[in-house]
Amino acid sequence: MAGAGVAGVSLAPRAAANGESPDPEGFGVLVDTTECIGCRKCEWSCAQANKLSDKPLEAFEDTSVFESPRRMTAGAYTVVNRHADPENPEKPTFVKAQCMHCLRPACASACLVGALRRQDNGAVSYDPWKCMGCRYCMVACPFQVPAYEYNNALTPVVSKCSFCFERVRDGGGPPACVDMCPPMCLTFAKRGELLELARGKIATNPGRYLNHIYGEHELGGTSWMYLTSRPVTELGLLEFGEKPIPEYTEPLQHGIFKYGLPPMLLFGLLATAMKTFDSKEEEE
Ligand code: SF4
Ligand code: SF4
Ligand code: SF4
Repeated sequence: MAGAGVAGVSLAPRAAANGESPDPEGFGVLVDTTECIGCRKCEWSCAQANKLSDKPLEAFEDTSVFESPRRMTAGAYTVVNRHADPENPEKPTFVKAQCMHCLRPACASACLVGALRRQDNGAVSYDPWKCMGCRYCMVACPFQVPAYEYNNALTPVVSKCSFCFERVRDGGGPPACVDMCPPMCLTFAKRGELLELARGKIATNPGRYLNHIYGEHELGGTSWMYLTSRPVTELGLLEFGEKPIPEYTEPLQHGIFKYGLPPMLLFGLLATAMKTFDSKEEEE
């Protein structure tokens, strides 16, 4: 386990059926937001590895992008945002965002053709050949991650962080963003090891970290997890309970097959379910 990740690991893609219990030994990444310096090198590295941009590294040194919060797009699978701290204006917190690779992914649960699937190694993978372009996954994802190639008129696909699935599996190295992070605030390892690491950091430095590992339990747990020194709501991370989204949405899908509901109706029902879920979360 290290910022550079685990070398020589085998990430053979053993696909878990949607809804099955995830392999507890799957991989993950721990993001220590207290170490992030906002250099955006992870963004550049991701863009290079995924052939999203041929811009040089210098182009990613532009800090004007921090003026407003950004979301992932079809051209950027990860973005870093700056969150001012009113009590410490000299020290804002930078937070990298990407797909969280949920243990019980709502996107995979909503996908009728199995284009999105959670793999035992921790990645939620996407198969553009199976995708029918319905974009239910975009409605279902509570982290608002999947983007769509609206500018690609002929072969648009849903796009999101792949956890560098093939790179990691074939090269045995960590994801490109983890590999590039100068202060090593990203750690790639087995999820269980990351939880131990995170608990150790909190125990040895309680003044630096809140006693909360974001992603350990949220929505059933995620492969990417965060340590913070400030409440997550101040850092653009949404607050969630522990219940996985598929427990809200799967009954709707079963209704499709049982009662022959047209897919567009599911789209509306999913959107309604997500709204209901949001308001329930607000009440809790
Ligand atoms: S964050 Fe969204 S896109 Fe990523 S695995 Fe979870 S539900 Fe799917
Ligand atoms: S894991 Fe790979 S695809 Fe995901 S943000 Fe990092 S570099 Fe990009
Ligand atoms: S490379 Fe590391 S330190 Fe730099 S912005 Fe990305 S996560 Fe933060």
